[in-house]
Amino acid sequence: MTHPSAAPGDGSDALFGLEALGSAAPAAEPAPRSGTEPLFRDSPAARRLLPVREIYAEPGAAASPRGRQVLARFPDARLIEVESHWRIPELHGNEGNVERWVRVKGETLVLGERKTFTSRPNGRSADWIAPGPSNGCAMACAYCYVPRRKGYANPVTVFTNIDRLIAHLGRHIARQGPKPEPDQVDPEAWVYDIGENGDCSVDALICDNTADLVHAFARWPTAKASFATKFVNPDLLALDPRGRTRIRFSLMPADDSRLLDLRTSPIADRIAAAPDFLDAGYEVHFNLSPVVIRPGWEDDWAELLRHLDDVLPDRVKRQAAAEVIMLTHNQELHEVNLGWHPRAEEALWRPGLQQAKRSQNGALNVRYRNDVKAGALETLRGLVAAHAPWLRIRYAF
Ligand code: SF4
Repeated sequence: MTHPSAAPGDGSDALFGLEALGSAAPAAEPAPRSGTEPLFRDSPAARRLLPVREIYAEPGAAASPRGRQVLARFPDARLIEVESHWRIPELHGNEGNVERWVRVKGETLVLGERKTFTSRPNGRSADWIAPGPSNGCAMACAYCYVPRRKGYANPVTVFTNIDRLIAHLGRHIARQGPKPEPDQVDPEAWVYDIGENGDCSVDALICDNTADLVHAFARWPTAKASFATKFVNPDLLALDPRGRTRIRFSLMPADDSRLLDLRTSPIADRIAAAPDFLDAGYEVHFNLSPVVIRPGWEDDWAELLRHLDDVLPDRVKRQAAAEVIMLTHNQELHEVNLGWHPRAEEALWRPGLQQAKRSQNGALNVRYRNDVKAGALETLRGLVAAHAPWLRIRYAF
């Protein structure tokens, strides 16, 4: 991720401070590591994304082997004991203070123990949504739904009882038996999304939760892990997933990404990393998401798809597939964003094209009107057929 986020001159540099956004990116071409080569997670670029200064921890989480691993990685961080990782009033919220919550995302970690282990059926992106090894994210995409439950200052909470999570998954997978028939998710494996509420590539900068999951799935012949990511972490190349982990690089036109995907790896780096991840034993898919309708969106998506076609080698194309997900947004988030990144809202908040729906918890969610969405999906399918016909669309939503 060379300089990831804000478009030059959009004013957001001043809001965050350049060092906060920083250059968290690896070189575009991560090379295979020898045993003595340093880990990316120890690099200055990784430290810029996560300059951790304080760690809130439940006592049991701090004392656990995984908790001790995290504390040892950030020896200068101040440890603050908390009763529950869900209730840290001084940390969560801060809706009105964006500069603070973006800083919190990089400078703060939380250690907690997951109490519930439920794999939910999905059927679109994955067969099952697994209980995640973390909650929260060090990046700061303007449209992100992940922070909503904890307020916007939602740094990474690492769940330290990863052994219980893996035991749950082992039992769940055993109960399913072999997949009876192919579906759009996968022809033969039960696919578990392991990164619903965070980004596993960033989690791997903090501890071995992602590595433990990748290794566990490498041993389960009827299942496959899957996670979407906006961050290129070359340390993942050393994990030997044996084809049992699907990494989904999220893609959107570079101009949209510069405007909306703060602190993430540049789109070109995500694409350039695909062959390395395939060669390291991952299945490599793409998430074309979120698709944001704004003037000129069709041309920019066409350019992105042509770029994919130009640079990806045949071995990546042969196994690739894509999910297409149209933008959904939320009134609360819209109002927060207006305070710090109004240019993002010019693209995200389009009342003339969108319809609102009040969710069960009272939030007003917006999505493109059915007719607008149907037309846009048809357009995008046409662009894929014209410019990247090898890219099978698994589902479009
Ligand atoms: S990378 Fe994903 S989880 Fe993180 S802020 Fe962006 S959308 Fe949210």
